Amino acid sequence: ATPAALVAGTGAAAKAGLLVRDVEALERAARIDAVIFDKTGTLTAGRPALVATEAIDGDATKLLALAAAVERGSEHPLAKAVVEAAEGQGLQIPAATNIRSHPGDGVSGDVAGARVAIGGVRLLAEVGAHTAPVEAMLARHAAEGRTAVAVSEGRRAKGVLAFADAPRPSAAEAVRRLAALNVQIIMLTGDSAEAAAPIARGVGISRVEAGARPADKLATIQRLKAEGSRVAMVGDGVNDAPALAAADLGIAMGGGADVALETAGVALLRPDPVLVPAALLLSRRTVANIR
Ligand code: ADP
Ligand code: MG
Repeated sequence: ATPAALVAGTGAAAKAGLLVRDVEALERAARIDAVIFDKTGTLTAGRPALVATEAIDGDATKLLALAAAVERGSEHPLAKAVVEAAEGQGLQIPAATNIRSHPGDGVSGDVAGARVAIGGVRLLAEVGAHTAPVEAMLARHAAEGRTAVAVSEGRRAKGVLAFADAPRPSAAEAVRRLAALNVQIIMLTGDSAEAAAPIARGVGISRVEAGARPADKLATIQRLKAEGSRVAMVGDGVNDAPALAAADLGIAMGGGADVALETAGVALLRPDPVLVPAALLLSRRTVANIR
């Protein structure tokens, strides 16, 4: 391999909207035969819209303000949707302290002396809140293909927030082009299987692993590597960082979290999934030219 040709390859990559960390990353990209996609913020626009707020006590306004108080301290796409909705309605958002993110599960914080948690039932159980009152609500929204999260205050479940997140316009095209490159494609998401299924179907992905926390995403990458696959992981979030680092090639979405960028071998300059097959194709051509 001539390093000069590889460096020229990284130059061509930059023109195509790809930032390649080093020539080794470009060489590894040429050999990828499996691409693992995160869902939220990667295959979807990552700008989920809040479409339902259901409070157990009937006070949806108070529920939204409470959720926004804690979500103000989170970088997650769902958090931005909650804060935007609350601000859009001109709500008074209370102050929250001791905000803690639970990657892949949700976020928690103290509001007016009570621990408030927002996320799936796993998080509510972890903070010692009752999950039974919201389980049917969550299931109903998930069955509609929405991402639904529960809110608890102290040990009480307060209600549910549901979000709709559209696939990015180029996601289906990206999957088609990767299939044409003979690459195995898997969706790997922290979201529920019910919410993930319609998105996967819509973009043409048939293999889905759902309910995955950061450590589960990492384990999936390690398993695929152990099976002999050469794996690229595409993600945008803090929750993807361990998987991005463990993959043969980490690919960070444009506009994603800083830690995703730092751990990836390739950064997409735009949040456009079609840049993933573009990266593989360009690397294959560059490496082929050298040999
Ligand atoms: P993905 O793998 O699809 O990008 P994440 O791992 O980011 O999904 O999130 C997985 C799940 O964790 C979400 O569907 C949600 O239930 C919960 N979650 C994570 N962060 C938050 C947050 N800030 N607010 C509410 N729920 C959250
Ligand atoms: Mg994500």
